[in-house]
Amino acid sequence: MQPLICSRVVNKYLVASRYDKVGTIISKEQFEELRELSKGDSELPIWIEPLIKKIGLKTKTKVKNSIFIRDETRYRFGRVSYEITERCNYDCQHCYLDKKSLDTLNLSEKERIIQIIANSGCLWLQITGGEPLIDVDFPYVYNLAHSLGMLVTLSTNGSLLTKKKISGLLQKKPPYRLTVSMYGGSQKSYESLTQKKGSFGQFISGLDWARSANVRTRLNIIVTKYNSNEINEMIRIARHYGFEHHIFSSMSPTLEGGISPMQYEASECLINEDRINRNSKGFSFCQAGQSSFHINSAGKASICKVARKPSVDVKIVGQQVLDLLPQISNQLFSDFSECNKCDERGTCSTCPLLYKFYQKSGQIPPSVCYKYKRKGGDKDGTGNARSNTN
Ligand code: SF4
Ligand code: SF4
Repeated sequence: MQPLICSRVVNKYLVASRYDKVGTIISKEQFEELRELSKGDSELPIWIEPLIKKIGLKTKTKVKNSIFIRDETRYRFGRVSYEITERCNYDCQHCYLDKKSLDTLNLSEKERIIQIIANSGCLWLQITGGEPLIDVDFPYVYNLAHSLGMLVTLSTNGSLLTKKKISGLLQKKPPYRLTVSMYGGSQKSYESLTQKKGSFGQFISGLDWARSANVRTRLNIIVTKYNSNEINEMIRIARHYGFEHHIFSSMSPTLEGGISPMQYEASECLINEDRINRNSKGFSFCQAGQSSFHINSAGKASICKVARKPSVDVKIVGQQVLDLLPQISNQLFSDFSECNKCDERGTCSTCPLLYKFYQKSGQIPPSVCYKYKRKGGDKDGTGNARSNTN
């Protein structure tokens, strides 16, 4: 398997490592040159040597053995997230999925989705859930995405990484990145949130495996009311494993607008995420639906994970979805929403679709809407506008 991918992404050409954040932008002429060289027995051209050295490849390697060259497509998408399943082996109290419905797609429908994602031009594919590793078709889907030359990020709770079928697959074909959520620094806090006995031990075993397999891993530290006194311990665990970490402290409502996840927010720990910045130029048009999109476990495609409506059923429209998503994006952003009428629009960087998403729940935190805060939403002056945490 070639360690490098060469692909057109949106309006650029690049050569990138399959397993690391290493790559270089190339010209169209260089892209064509690599394509020609890959048809014969040619060695790598001299201009690619700096990249080759970075990833530790020998310079005399043949192009066809070191670079997977993807076909150009007329579509201009670069990033896609695919929620392969809504099901999960945990029952986290803060989860934004309301029902965790049973999966309805069969293997050939999932296969078609991956083919369409590849045809969209996507280079960076996130496979997520629910817990993606419990899906019986995950190994096939992952293998296929890998073999089509996509850089796959796997978002998981980490509990199933040591299962033979999974560890064998990921060892043989490592992901671009493993993103593992961390729900606590101790068994007590972790399992209070996940409501699954033994899950902390499984999570730690997963981290042990990822380190021993040398898989590039990032820990998403989820701060909740159960673990807010363990932030330092969670950071210590991330450092102990040598993994990059990000801290997330604010909870969103459920997709249907339920406010239950917000009850688990540690309001005293909320990172200052105010989107109002007097020096900011306000919200700049997001590329969702133009260069990225999301597909859920029922095969419904939407411009992103937040703005899930309108959606398009990939089972029905097939590849036509790639022409419809940019139209949906244009339509959503041209809507005369409350944000577009707001006198703070010029300095507020909140996406109007994110505002709408919170609005549906009736609870808009000041980190999302400054105006709401000024209107009196922030009654107690703590920055906490949500009644469910009062
Ligand atoms: S309504 Fe709130 S979120 Fe929307 S632009 Fe105004 S301040 Fe920003
Ligand atoms: S919520 Fe708004 S900013 Fe975020 S991805 Fe969707 S459209 Fe873009």
